[in-house]
Amino acid sequence: MTHFDAIVIGSGQAGPSLAARFAAAGKGVAIIERHKFGGTCVNTGCIPTKTLVASAYAIHDARRGAEYGFSTGEVRVDIKRVKARKDEASARSSKGVEAWLRGTANCTVIQGQARFQSLNTVVVNDEVLQAEKIFINVGARAAVPEMPGIHDVPFLNNSSMMDIDFLPEHFIIVGGSYVGLEFAQMYRRFGSEVTIVEMGPRLIGREDEDVSQAVREIIEAEGVHVRLNAKCISLAKRDGGVAVGVTCEEGSPEVVGSHILLAVGRIPNTSDLGLDNAGVVTDHRGYIVVDDELQTNVPGIWALGDCNGRGGFTHTSYNDYEIVADNLFNADHRRVSDRIQAYALYIDPPLGRCGMTDAEVRKSGRRALAVKYPMARVSRAYEKGETQGFMKITVDAETKQILGAAILGVGGDEVVHVLLDVMYAKAPYTVIQRAMHIHPTVAELVPTLLEGLKPFPSAP
Ligand SMILES: Cc1cc2nc3c(=O)[nH]c(=O)nc-3n(C[C@H](O)[C@H](O)[C@H](O)COP(=O)(O)OP(=O)(O)OC[C@H]3O[C@@H](n4cnc5c(N)ncnc54)[C@H](O)[C@@H]3O)c2cc1C
Repeated sequence: MTHFDAIVIGSGQAGPSLAARFAAAGKGVAIIERHKFGGTCVNTGCIPTKTLVASAYAIHDARRGAEYGFSTGEVRVDIKRVKARKDEASARSSKGVEAWLRGTANCTVIQGQARFQSLNTVVVNDEVLQAEKIFINVGARAAVPEMPGIHDVPFLNNSSMMDIDFLPEHFIIVGGSYVGLEFAQMYRRFGSEVTIVEMGPRLIGREDEDVSQAVREIIEAEGVHVRLNAKCISLAKRDGGVAVGVTCEEGSPEVVGSHILLAVGRIPNTSDLGLDNAGVVTDHRGYIVVDDELQTNVPGIWALGDCNGRGGFTHTSYNDYEIVADNLFNADHRRVSDRIQAYALYIDPPLGRCGMTDAEVRKSGRRALAVKYPMARVSRAYEKGETQGFMKITVDAETKQILGAAILGVGGDEVVHVLLDVMYAKAPYTVIQRAMHIHPTVAELVPTLLEGLKPFPSAP
């Protein structure tokens, strides 16, 4: 049995930094990874998809050449080169994480599947490791729901998508949320016919209705087909292709295409970890139950990142690391509940989101003020020829603090931070109105926008 001060299972977005933090403090730490270093974000999530989104954006822009005063001739997409660019970005990052960990003094890197043997021992490659502190950062994977025909047809998910170097003729994407929407727009821009099949009555159902509607308009304008209310999805083989059965309120009951991407949610990688041997409790979906400081029910075991069900993003996983590291090394008392919801949807134009949705504000029953402004009236957006979308902000009528914002438009993923930082400062929105912003930017409109705050409608 080999003893360490700490064991980290998984090299996702929290694990490597935590291992390095222990090592820097002179503690012996082992980090175990069973697959590629860097985990989902680096290998099958953010980095490859945003690299592909960038290719799709450039291709789309080239097709719009005439609007900007140039001509290119026919724009031909070389999907193998698009993939090679993506592969390079992922490999660079994954190798960087591995080299960093292997080059860190006091850090032992082990490749293999980790499994708890007891509350303070882990087995990997038949070797038993022991530590007083164990950190689980095992992430999540694409869910495969038990739908009729699922075992009869080949389908892709975000991981297997990384290997395709051809253009599906007609791509059916099951799931109209964040992952599905990004792939839908990018493959449409690469040249596939694309249909999104969504069970719910609208796309990205967790957003406000006006956001869902605007996103739908943006992707439909590029020729993506959207089938909503697909209550009873089934899959079947068709001559040289696949069919997705949809019980829709309107339209054909079946969509026939060449390939299917399943983008219907994630499940945590916790079932093969031997958690029972350690007595670590999970919820009914397999997420590890943690307290506000990310400790499990077993003292000495923490769970960080997607596997604890408290985030689902790279930045939430990294923030988990910051919380745990500050609490352990700096005697701080940081808590998950102190963080403000923030994320982006990387279609073009992107959606930057922070804080509460309108629906959540309404549900909270508080008195609020709100404003909404079309991107078409933002000078910078107009100059760039990217005027789709809108910005909207909600503030508390009494405290004047910002409650939430949705910036759907060019630069929306960046502009939202103007609001997010003020929210963390717990400052009133009026401080933004005293700030001088740079012209011409999208962010410069935020102070002007706030002048238009009106009582928040109490009903939709
Ligand atoms: C298509 C897609 C696009 C995304 N885009 C974004 C985005 O733009 N922005 C964003 O913020 N988030 C995005 N995400 C989400 C983001 O990728 C994840 O939230 C993030 O990677 C989670 O990190 P993590 O630290 O929880 O674990 P992961 O990155 O999933 O890493 C877990 C690691 O643990 C390893 N592991 C698992 N079990 C074991 C075991 N028993 N033994 C040893 N090793 C094990 C795995 O191999 C993996 O390497 C995207 C996700 C997807 C699927």
